[in-house]
Amino acid sequence: MTTTMLPQTTHPNLEKAAQLAAKLQPLRHLLGGHWAESEGGERFDSVNPHDASVLTSAPSGTAGDIDRAARAAHDAFQIWRNVSGAERRRLLHRIADGIEARADEIALLESLDTGQAIRFMKSAATRGAENFRFFADRAPSAGDGQSLPAPGFINYTLRQPIGPVGVITPWNTPFMLSTWKIAPALAAGCTVVHKPAEWSPVTATLLAEIMQSVFEEAGLPGGIVNLVHGYGESAGKALTEHPLIQAVAFVGETTTGSHIMRQGADTLKRVHFELGGKNPVVVFDDADLDKALDAVVFMIYSLNGERCTSSSRVLIQSGIYDEFTARIAERARNMRVGHPLDPATEVGPLIHPRHTGKVTSYFDSARDEGATIAAGGEARGGNYVSPTLFTGARADMRIAQEEIFGPVLTAISFTDEAEALAIANGVRYGLAAYLWTNDLTRAHRFAQQVEAGMVWVNSENVRHLPTPFGGVKNSGIGRDGGDHSFEFYMETKNIAISLGTHKTARLGVGEGQPTRDSVDKKLAE
Ligand code: NAD
Repeated sequence: MTTTMLPQTTHPNLEKAAQLAAKLQPLRHLLGGHWAESEGGERFDSVNPHDASVLTSAPSGTAGDIDRAARAAHDAFQIWRNVSGAERRRLLHRIADGIEARADEIALLESLDTGQAIRFMKSAATRGAENFRFFADRAPSAGDGQSLPAPGFINYTLRQPIGPVGVITPWNTPFMLSTWKIAPALAAGCTVVHKPAEWSPVTATLLAEIMQSVFEEAGLPGGIVNLVHGYGESAGKALTEHPLIQAVAFVGETTTGSHIMRQGADTLKRVHFELGGKNPVVVFDDADLDKALDAVVFMIYSLNGERCTSSSRVLIQSGIYDEFTARIAERARNMRVGHPLDPATEVGPLIHPRHTGKVTSYFDSARDEGATIAAGGEARGGNYVSPTLFTGARADMRIAQEEIFGPVLTAISFTDEAEALAIANGVRYGLAAYLWTNDLTRAHRFAQQVEAGMVWVNSENVRHLPTPFGGVKNSGIGRDGGDHSFEFYMETKNIAISLGTHKTARLGVGEGQPTRDSVDKKLAE
């Protein structure tokens, strides 16, 4: 690959990132509190998406490494589950402090490793720390239950951590997503084995370092969090099959979710899946079109479009279709595609040549199926692609059905609400939906009928941690956020206590023997 045509930057971020990269040690697993090589000794490179240079390498985890991690998590669970909620809260806040203290380093390395523009990665650490603080504050009450009295009984419920859990994360925004899973697991009292994505393993190590140092400082044993690098088919698979791992929290592709469900069947794994999406943003002609335009453009071209909640299908009412798509196309053409470490950059390189090949293959697909490429539609060298808009698309085209996971938007026209709803629901996914209208009744009607786990009305995706996050159909199983996370990482137990007044049937006392009922009857005579 030639690097001469690739975008360059002279911003000081480049120098800072180069210094951090130079200091990066070859990555290692964290097993039971010890930094370790893979038992097989094999490694793989972690590559900079900008120019394909090697950033560092990571050990390729084996089933044996996973076994060591799972056993360590199992042993540590016996201690961690009994650490008080108040202490867990304190420790998780300390982890958040540690993340904030290394925020610049996390942002720069995340940008280097993923190709995500630094303007968006700046918040990676802040959001990661927020996730820890949010669940930290809920740790003391995570085990709370209900009182469910019945005649003659007191019933009460409590929640207990399920045990060691596996967390498997994707490459798109790895740091933030890892904290989104690991923080509630730890707050609940679970121990963790984390398997990060092989295409962006760097910041998982920073997170593990921060967590491990907090646990060490508190005098806790190693193994509360374990990190195993490696490929999905080997390390990931072994994690989902391990009998000591009680549950798997997975974020990634829908097809991988199916594999994991199969792999976990023998050990009856509880699974939580956050999978792919082909999220519609529906723009009615009565909407505030300026605001809608900003949101549509932001939700597909930010984070390189490598975002599960990206609004990758824009459904536009026919009367405004031409003008609105022209405005999107203009924005797409103006988008600053550049070096990810340049703060001006809006779209950086995609993660990996294989993914770039997948994204650009949809340019041909769009042409073949008769859509129009209104903006972009070009590979720019390396992993860089132009922000793209397809117009004149039909709902049954591949570009309207399949998750592309790049800065590529498909625009479809509709005439009325019923047609918009049919198109919105006519895909196998159901993660998020966005709706733009000033008609209040229509907004409610549509929001209730659209098949999605999350609906934003007159807004882009704005995060609020107590709200449920997750998808329907092929977009996932289960919800994160607020108490929903604890429902996954904990088991609810019911305890029934008799007040001593209920009657128990007497068996094995022989025919003709007095029964409780007959004695009662006698006494009543
Ligand atoms: P992926 O499914 O290829 O990989 C995700 C993780 O699963 C990686 O760590 C990988 O090594 C591992 N894995 C792969 N095969 C495995 C197997 N057989 N057993 C166990 N683990 C295995 O996904 P990706 O390409 O890294 O990420 C992109 C996908 O993630 C997109 O589909 C995107 O929509 C989805 N995603 C969803 C959300 C959400 O919240 N719904 C968030 C971010 C990304």
